[in-house]
Amino acid sequence: ERVDLAQVVHEIFEQLEKIASAKRTFLKLRVDRPGPIWVKADLQRINQVMTNLIENAIKYGNENGKVLVSLEEDKKHVLVAVKDDGPGIPPEHLSRIFERFYRVEKSRSKDRGGTGLGLAIVKHILNAHKAKITVMSKIDKGTTFRFKLERMEELKLAASKQNVQ
Ligand code: ATP
Ligand code: MG
Repeated sequence: ERVDLAQVVHEIFEQLEKIASAKRTFLKLRVDRPGPIWVKADLQRINQVMTNLIENAIKYGNENGKVLVSLEEDKKHVLVAVKDDGPGIPPEHLSRIFERFYRVEKSRSKDRGGTGLGLAIVKHILNAHKAKITVMSKIDKGTTFRFKLERMEELKLAASKQNVQ
């Protein structure tokens, strides 16, 4: 299945606009060129991945903060990054945030609801797409999650369209 990642992100931004504007969080998508960014993925699942990451970035980010999603194409892949300029995740917690029900012990995260499943689901879905997710975080600077998905080039696209006919 081919998915336009740029479109997916736009739709999520629209869906999360209310919670973002309540915190005055600025949402930005950075792409190298306008138009669709095709990847080989399951639409529903990749939508879930992007939603969980962007929602976290807003939820745990600062007021008046910024959330930047970037989609960078190379020959075979699209590199996806979801970056915030929030409080960051302490290094001793970093290796555990993808575990089910794991939440960083902070009053902050306790009164923000959530079950601690979001990132476990993200990791699981990306696994099924043969993609590894990495996280980099710096206290008071922010957090960045990255992964890459297989690109669906125009050529393959044309071929798969022909196959359908
Ligand atoms: P759920 O996603 O199920 O609503 P959750 O957001 O607590 O609950 P995860 O999305 O798995 O669960 O995140 C796990 C924990 O990692 C969070 O509770 C939070 O402490 C921390 N975390 C996740 N993303 C960020 C981020 N962008 N900045 C700071 N901390 C984060
Ligand atoms: Mg979450």
